[in-house]
Amino acid sequence: AKPAGPTPTVVTRKAKRGDRFADLSELKDVKTQQAVADLLGVQNPFFRMHDGCAGATTHIDGETHINFASYNYLGLNGHPEVAAAAKAAIDHYGVSCSASRLVAGERPIHRELEHRIAEFYGVDDAVAFVSGHATNVAAIGHLMRNGDLVVYDSLAHNSIVVGATLSGATRRMFAHNDLDALEEILIQQAHAHERVLVAVEGLYSMDGDFPDLARLVNMRDRYGFWLMVDEAHSLGVLGETGGGIAEECGVDPKDVDIWMGTLSKTLSGCGGYIAGSHSLVEYLKFSAPGFVYSVGMPPAVAASAIACFDLLKREPERVAKLRANGARFVEQAKAAGLDVGTATGTAIVPVMVGDSLRAVHLANRLLTRGVNALPIVHPAVPERSARLRFFLTSDHSFQQIDHTVAVVAEEHHGLAK
Ligand code: PMP
Repeated sequence: AKPAGPTPTVVTRKAKRGDRFADLSELKDVKTQQAVADLLGVQNPFFRMHDGCAGATTHIDGETHINFASYNYLGLNGHPEVAAAAKAAIDHYGVSCSASRLVAGERPIHRELEHRIAEFYGVDDAVAFVSGHATNVAAIGHLMRNGDLVVYDSLAHNSIVVGATLSGATRRMFAHNDLDALEEILIQQAHAHERVLVAVEGLYSMDGDFPDLARLVNMRDRYGFWLMVDEAHSLGVLGETGGGIAEECGVDPKDVDIWMGTLSKTLSGCGGYIAGSHSLVEYLKFSAPGFVYSVGMPPAVAASAIACFDLLKREPERVAKLRANGARFVEQAKAAGLDVGTATGTAIVPVMVGDSLRAVHLANRLLTRGVNALPIVHPAVPERSARLRFFLTSDHSFQQIDHTVAVVAEEHHGLAK
């Protein structure tokens, strides 16, 4: 006879056939947004197809537009020297290094790039990751842990927030660029945590402004936290010679514990880096999951980033032109009665328009007039601060900038409130 016992439960949930994600509740939200846009007759400005190399101009649907939507700050993507360096690396190494660097993926070009980055900051060493986003996630997520505290600016990039969340540390956010508010958090909470990391950006990609780095360094010395600066948008952009926020603020780069940056903007590739002390770099190289368990950076990307560093050093006039362009845009926009928020007149200038629908409308109108600039809408920014965002490059001419500002002002002021 069978032994007595509980009757096993029969699983009745059968796997459906076809698209098993079609009724995902989160997808419904995305579809509702699209349906509302369709209903209002607003074209979707996202995933627009561009052809060729995007810089001061770009090609969409066979037409050339003045372009303010790419991170090609110094016009180095498409530069023949940069392309030649990438091609030579492909001829020598192939297109992939075909393994994690820890095992069989290490190539001399990786270390050459890392030495260049370390030299740029005057710090011990650097490590390059295959993605900028993954760099923040891996570094913050791996350095910090339960019992620690991560404090960041309310406009910090998603990758900083995700890294902090994954770390298991307590997270606190301070109002954008409000270092008094940061100090308040430190006074109240720093002592209760073993390690404290404060993460800021060198240039904020939504507002085009930057923090007072000298004051942050001073606070770091007084409160003992690790200071991390994400230079995704400030490398090659801020400072007289493009030396970044440290040069801009007259700070010794050695006084920042963790320099983070991406290769996807000024350096015209993709990937990210962490630069700092020997111990920091060694720890990440031997144990950070996003590095150890990920393929090494394609050699061509490392080679083109090195070529960009060479050009940055040799042609500082590119930085000067970018700064002049940023200042020109802000000056013209203000004169035309546009609201550029707290933009400092560098590579990123927002034009506030008030709500998401209006921002999308305006972007679409601009496109019909030969200007490509993207709307930034909720939830990327609060609904009332929806905006158009303009990324400048050193290749824009004053004429392109003046024309654009005039068109934006005309469309913005012309659009019914
Ligand atoms: N940090 C900041 C501040 C960013 O703006 C971005 C993306 N633009 C990243 C990190 C991620 O970099 P990537 O796009 O190169 O992955």
